Amino acid sequence: MKTLEATRLLKTYRDVVARLQNESAVPPAEAASSDFLDLAQSVEHQELARLTATRLAERAKRLHIALTRVVDGEYGVCSECGTSIPPKRLLAIPDATTCVACQEQLEQARP
Ligand SMILES: [Zn+2]
Repeated sequence: MKTLEATRLLKTYRDVVARLQNESAVPPAEAASSDFLDLAQSVEHQELARLTATRLAERAKRLHIALTRVVDGEYGVCSECGTSIPPKRLLAIPDATTCVACQEQLEQARP
């Protein structure tokens, strides 16, 4: 069990979830505002918040998968070829489930 990785992963996961809750708490556009620019800016801000929330939700999902892999003792092992993922890669991308070579292959295989 890689306790250090698990602790870091859990912390990142909690951070992302907390940020997600923050982003979701954005107040709705002020429909009562008579200033069109105000309204437009508000809508734009909402769009941005929704985009951020979507991205955060995806990140949370990936981190959750990574955490499940920690529990299963599979964290840090490439899901494609089974080799150990370099610690440096895990540090940069804590939710990585594949090694660099497999990741590149997966990206090339994408339509
Ligand atoms: Zn691999």
